[in-house]
Amino acid sequence: MISDLAFDAWKDRAALRPIDDVARLLQLSLKKIAPREWAGPCPRPGCGGHDRFAINLTKNVYNCRHCGGGDGIGLVMMARSLDFVAACEFINGEPAPDRDTRLSADDQERLAQEAAARAAAVAKRQADENAHRERERGRLYDIWHRAIPDADLLKAYLRLRLGTDIAVPSRLRLVREMPYYSQGADRGDILARAPAMVAPIVGADGRFRGLHFTYLDLARPNGKLHLLDAAGEPLPAKKVRGSKEGHWIELIRVDEPTTLVHGEGIEKVLAVWLALASVGRDLTTTAFWTSVDLGNLGGKSAASWTHPSLKSDKGRPQRVPGPVPDLDAPAIEIPDSVTDLVLLGDSTSDRFTTQCALARATARYAREGRTVRTAWAPADKDFDDVLREAA
Ligand SMILES: [Zn+2]
Repeated sequence: MISDLAFDAWKDRAALRPIDDVARLLQLSLKKIAPREWAGPCPRPGCGGHDRFAINLTKNVYNCRHCGGGDGIGLVMMARSLDFVAACEFINGEPAPDRDTRLSADDQERLAQEAAARAAAVAKRQADENAHRERERGRLYDIWHRAIPDADLLKAYLRLRLGTDIAVPSRLRLVREMPYYSQGADRGDILARAPAMVAPIVGADGRFRGLHFTYLDLARPNGKLHLLDAAGEPLPAKKVRGSKEGHWIELIRVDEPTTLVHGEGIEKVLAVWLALASVGRDLTTTAFWTSVDLGNLGGKSAASWTHPSLKSDKGRPQRVPGPVPDLDAPAIEIPDSVTDLVLLGDSTSDRFTTQCALARATARYAREGRTVRTAWAPADKDFDDVLREAA
């Protein structure tokens, strides 16, 4: 007994296949005549011509000036003289659920070759991407390896941000002259060369995944490099290279931590560490991590929510990642040893977006025998502002 639902789904899959994919399956030789249009000889046996036939990628249809037009299934029916079900099988590369094949041995062979070629292309692209990622990881590790620990300039920067002298954590180092590129990792023009604080980004296996850069200029009040792009807009003083998603910075590292203080930015988390240390708290089993950014703190959301007040440029309500976590997406892994997870809420960022991220993290990391708490900085202040003002 054929399930109607399964058959409908199989049919829909054929109908939704992009028309250029179908043309490729049929090995049509077409030429691009407009951004979303290709033309060439008509594939219907006996029609031919040179340019009477065309496919339109936007409308996902074909048309022949002699034979008329239709969708991808219609195109296969016409080009191969197949009935509807056989044409769907041709496009999907598999017979209808619970049915035998309707295709000739030649067509089956042709489809198997096509599938193998597609799989090989996907594998090659994957291998290229992996090689590219590994090269970048190697370059970043090299930068980290050659960076200077316990540098005086870093001490001065942290004093500026925290209002007091601290021993520079071993996970922070200095690159004396780091180029600032106009595009991406190391592409485009070099806009400036400046000292940079670097911190390694790691994953659950402890493996080096990337590097976080803070470009410094101690002549400025906040100690950070101030650069403008060609349009006069300020460029971020912080950059991330390598793989960030689901990874983090172990700012203050301990083995098997029982308490984990987890926040978004390096300076904020350091401020909390300093505040706790200065009142004599025993921090021997407390780790301090940063998630690099707010989205990474909560991980991916299952669905976006409408922001209660923010509007887009076109005046529409803005959508932001909602409070429910997508548990299938990669996310930062909190060690099993952690029984007390303290999430730091930044009061200078958008409150609703921050609350959604913290709600995701709370839902994601809550479990039997572990408390998940949120510590908010006072209104409109960061933890490092509080510390600096108190100093
Ligand atoms: Zn035709």
